[in-house]
Amino acid sequence: MKSEAKKIDGVAPSAYGSGGLAGRENTLRAQKDISASDPGPRNLPLNRQNPSSNLPPVTDHGTVPPIWYSFDLVHRRMQEGGWTHQVTERELPSSKEIAAVQMRITAGGYRELHWHVADEWAYMLSGKARVTVLNPDGTMFIDDVEQGDLWLFPAAYPHSIQGLGDNGCEFLLVFNQGEFSEESTFLLSDWLSHTPPEVLAKNFRLPLESIAKLPTDSLYIFRGNLPDSLESDIAEATADARSKGPSYTFKLRAMTPTKKTAMGDARIVDSRNFPVSQKIAAALVTVKPGGLRELHWHPNASEWQYYIQGSGRMTVFNSSEQSRTMDFNANDVGFVPAVAGHYIENTGDTDLVFLEMFVAPQFVDFSLNNWIRHLPRTIAMDHLGLDSEEIDQIPPGKEIVL
Ligand code: MN
Ligand code: MN
Repeated sequence: MKSEAKKIDGVAPSAYGSGGLAGRENTLRAQKDISASDPGPRNLPLNRQNPSSNLPPVTDHGTVPPIWYSFDLVHRRMQEGGWTHQVTERELPSSKEIAAVQMRITAGGYRELHWHVADEWAYMLSGKARVTVLNPDGTMFIDDVEQGDLWLFPAAYPHSIQGLGDNGCEFLLVFNQGEFSEESTFLLSDWLSHTPPEVLAKNFRLPLESIAKLPTDSLYIFRGNLPDSLESDIAEATADARSKGPSYTFKLRAMTPTKKTAMGDARIVDSRNFPVSQKIAAALVTVKPGGLRELHWHPNASEWQYYIQGSGRMTVFNSSEQSRTMDFNANDVGFVPAVAGHYIENTGDTDLVFLEMFVAPQFVDFSLNNWIRHLPRTIAMDHLGLDSEEIDQIPPGKEIVL
C-alpha cells in the first residue's frame, strides 16, 4: 500500500503531518527553500523574540496547549503609590492551578490591608518591603524583606505590604488558584465603606464623627509614611502578641544552593525547609550560558515559570507526538502541563535565572538521565540502540543543571 502512494521528493504522502523522520526531513527542506517565505504582513519584533515559533525545530509536532505569556502584555493598574498587573488563567488558559501578580510599591506606599481566598507566595524582585500578617491566635508577625527573599501568607490570613528605602520595591505574587484575581481581594477600606456607620460606631466604640473620617473609597495601593525601624515596629505592635510560630518569610537567594554544578544551580524551597508553605513549592534556578536544565518531569503538579533574567528556550513534550518549543525572556511566564517532559536551555550570553512553581507540598522531579543510568544495562541498550560505553558517558542525572 505505502509503496504505491505517490511520492513527492521521495517522501510518501502519509509522512506529511507525522512527527516521524520523513516528515522532519520534509520540514527541514521547506525551511531552507521558498516554502518558508512569508510575503504577507509580519510582526517582526515578535518574530525576532520567538525564533522557535517562526522556524520551529523540526522535532516539534502537534498541538500543545499555550506554554508562554508575558507580564509585558497585560494591563497595568496605576495608582499613586505603585501599580499592579496579573497573568491568570484568563490570560494563560492552561494554568488552572496558579495565577500571578506583579506589583510595584513606591517608598512608603502600601498595598492596603487585605486578605483573600488563595495562599500567597511572593518573591522580591527589587528593593525592600515590610510585611505584617496576623495569626488566628491573635499574634502578629512582622518582618522586612529584600531582593531575593520571599514570603508566604496562608489563605484568609490578613496582611500588609509597604515599600521601604529610597525606591520602594517590586515583587511577584504567586497564588494557588488559576482564576485568582488581584481585583477581588477582601479590602479593609471596601468593608468599612459597605458597613452601616452606626454598626461601625458600635464595633469600634467610636462616635459617628470619628466614623465619618474612615475611607469611603477603595485604597488598594496608596501613598503612606515610611515606618520606624523593624525593631521599634515589632516592639510597638506586638508587645503582648508576638508571633512565636514559624516564620512567614524566607531568604531564598541567600540560601546555599540545593544542587550546584559547573553550569548552574538550583535552590529549592518547600514545606521541608519553609514549613508554612504547605501548598506551594518552588525552585530558583540559574543556568549559565550554554547550560541546560536537564530533561525531566514532575509527577505531582503542573509547572508555572517566571523568567527573572536572561533568555532561553523550552520544549514541552506532552505525549502523543506533541512537542512545542518556545523562547523566553525576562518578565515572561512559562507553563508545563502536569507530568509533561521538558528542558530549559540558556540561549543567551548571560545567566538565565527563573522560578519553577508548583501547587504541591514538595518539589519532586524525575530526571531522564537518572532513569537511563539506573536501568539494567540491557534495557537501556535495547531501547536506545547505544552500546554500554556510550551509556556510561550519560551524566548520572538529578544534577538539575548540566
Ligand atoms: Mn495579598
Ligand atoms: Mn521542571
